[in-house]
Amino acid sequence: MNLPGSPYFAYRQDDLHVENLPLSGIAAQFGTPCYVYSRAALTENLREFQAALAAYPLGADSLVCYAVKANPNLAILNLFARLGAGFDIVSGGELQRALAAGADAGKVVFSGVGKSVVEMEQALNAGILCFNVESAAELERLNAVAGRLGKRAPVSLRVNPDVDPKTHPYISTGLKSAKFGVPIADAPALYERAAHLPNLAVVGVDCHIGSQLLDPAPFSEAVDRLLVLLDHLAARGIAIRHLDLGGGLGIRYQQDETPPEVAAYLTPLLDKLQGRGELKIILEPGRRLVGNAGLLLTRVEYLKPGATKNFAIIDAAMNDLMRPALYAAWHEIVEVARKNIPAARYDVVGPVCESGDFFGQERPLAIADGDLLAVLSAGAYGMAMSSNYNTRPRAAEVLVDGDKAHLIRRRESIADLYAHEQRIPTDPI
Ligand SMILES: *Cc1c(COP(=O)(O)O)cnc(C)c1O
Repeated sequence: MNLPGSPYFAYRQDDLHVENLPLSGIAAQFGTPCYVYSRAALTENLREFQAALAAYPLGADSLVCYAVKANPNLAILNLFARLGAGFDIVSGGELQRALAAGADAGKVVFSGVGKSVVEMEQALNAGILCFNVESAAELERLNAVAGRLGKRAPVSLRVNPDVDPKTHPYISTGLKSAKFGVPIADAPALYERAAHLPNLAVVGVDCHIGSQLLDPAPFSEAVDRLLVLLDHLAARGIAIRHLDLGGGLGIRYQQDETPPEVAAYLTPLLDKLQGRGELKIILEPGRRLVGNAGLLLTRVEYLKPGATKNFAIIDAAMNDLMRPALYAAWHEIVEVARKNIPAARYDVVGPVCESGDFFGQERPLAIADGDLLAVLSAGAYGMAMSSNYNTRPRAAEVLVDGDKAHLIRRRESIADLYAHEQRIPTDPI
């Protein structure tokens, strides 16, 4: 069978490998559940974007800013920083994490609708590349905070081009009805306001229309609308130095999904920008860089045959990977060792006390108790959205590099989970 995603996750004989290592060995060494990533896949995914941008005249100054929220592990951020990436952050926590991982603050853009005063101060002091401002109120606050620090804040407005990305409503962000960004009709007046605020420097225009997009058409429509805005601003003396097209390019979770190649999606966009002089491009991919560079390795605890359904109860749960429960998302689930035993259809479920705690339904699998399974395409919004629900320690994370496996996050201990809690004093007798 062809696995969706990366060539670095493949069967050799009947054993699923990540790069040169069998997953059975990783499970033996690090335990399960465990997230496993491929360094080669991560590297290749970033390079694909960088190569597509390099073909653009101002490619050298253009920037791929990895959306940290997709997978914020320090090792992954550090790897991307070493490869020249910038970062798209959505909190002060992500800023601190990116800097701890070796990010260049001058390559960081700060998105998000709710930036606090403290987060603005932190980002101004670090000297980030740009604030992607999402409301009129945020412009005023940022101006005041920058003034107090004696700084000028570089800003883009996150503009809502009102295109329908045709994705899951929870990850569709560019419609008029979204909480994100400012309506494109309001953008000219807000840019005028920003240009007059003394502690702001207008540098860019930003948008991000949604996630897991499989059709390049909405991107193209968004760029057309943004270019009309750019011309309008230029006519009013507001020069824009960079255009940030956000993230959102989808990945293949399922055999029948055919997301566009990076170059095929970017080239038509970059073509539209020909002849626009000094305009630099920023991209904010998240899922596309990490999603198919990771999987969740888990073990079957019990097989539970039933009258109408068979269940495979595994040691990973919705707290480890909540995408199926949250978005009804599909993840391919495969056997780590292919064996010559009869297959049956299973609902693959976790131990958590919620009916939504499932990974897949009616999946054909040839398995026995104790066998290992891999939940594929789990590198993005997997560990990042994990929780400790049911007092379950979060999984270990392992990065495979050729024939080496590096532990990049140790499994939490139970004591870690209540380390910040305390009892109230005992009652006096
Ligand atoms: C989440 C997000 C991204 C990344 O989205 P992907 O679908 O993972 O590429 C980029 N920019 C912003 C502003 C985001 O909120």
